[in-house]
Amino acid sequence: MKHIYALEAEATKLQEELARLGRRNLETGEWEAVPEEVDEGDADENTQADRFEDFEEKTALMKELSARLTEVETAIKKSHEGGYGICSTCGNPIEEERLEANPAATTCMAHLE
Ligand SMILES: [Zn+2]
Repeated sequence: MKHIYALEAEATKLQEELARLGRRNLETGEWEAVPEEVDEGDADENTQADRFEDFEEKTALMKELSARLTEVETAIKKSHEGGYGICSTCGNPIEEERLEANPAATTCMAHLE
């Protein structure tokens, strides 16, 4: 299974990126952004607004990254359990060039989401 290496490398990269941005909630298993510690002493309104914006951005980015991580992890699971590279819509094999571009693809080119 040649795509497994690409998938595992991507999963590692995504996990590192997520761990850098925030933390995993152990109860829900969800990744979440961590607000910066606010030092009440020097936090004027602008600084607080910046931090809030930063937090919002991180949250949006982490949402994207963790959605991708879920796709990649699902593909890795399939490559172990079977069903990898099979279109979830028509059941035909997914084109090699599509898997080349996105090893976590779950549909063939005719059934792009
Ligand atoms: Zn299909």
